[in-house]
Amino acid sequence: MCVEPVPRSDIQKYLRERGLRCTPQRFAVLDLLVNHPGHPTAEEMFRQINRADPRASRATIYNTLRALMDAGLVREFVQEGRSSRFGAHVGSHHHFLCDRCGKLEDIEWFSVAGLPRRREVGRRKVREYELVFRGVCESCSAPRARRKLSIH
Ligand SMILES: [Zn+2]
Ligand SMILES: [Zn+2]
Repeated sequence: MCVEPVPRSDIQKYLRERGLRCTPQRFAVLDLLVNHPGHPTAEEMFRQINRADPRASRATIYNTLRALMDAGLVREFVQEGRSSRFGAHVGSHHHFLCDRCGKLEDIEWFSVAGLPRRREVGRRKVREYELVFRGVCESCSAPRARRKLSIH
C-alpha cells in the first residue's frame, strides 16, 4: 500500500490497538498485507509465508486472516469466479480492479467532490466510502512483450 515499508513497530501497534496479541502468525500475515503492493489470495500468502516459516499451515493462515478480519484490520475482497483477495485495512484508499488478470491494486486516497467523509445516504449513516475503478491494469495493457507471451 505504501512505497516505504511499514515498520515493525507500526504493525505491532495496529494489533495492539485492536486488542490482538502480537503472535508470530498475526505479525507475519499483517506485515505481508500491509507491505504488499496488491491484494494476495490466501494461497499466495501461504506460499510466501511458508517460505520464511515452513511450519505455517494453510489452516493457520486462514485462522489468522479470520482473526485479523474480525478485528477490522484486514478485509476480504470477494470476486465472482476467482479466489478472494485480502488487503490490510489501515488508512483510506481506493481500489483498481483489472478485468483481465483480476489484480486488485490500491490507489492513493483522494476525496471526491460532493462526497464528504461523513454523510447520510437515505437513512443510512455513512462512515466512509471508497471507489473501485475497473479496467485494464498497466501490465495487461503493456504492448508487445506481454502480448507475445500470451500467444500459445
Ligand atoms: Zn491486469
Ligand atoms: Zn486495499
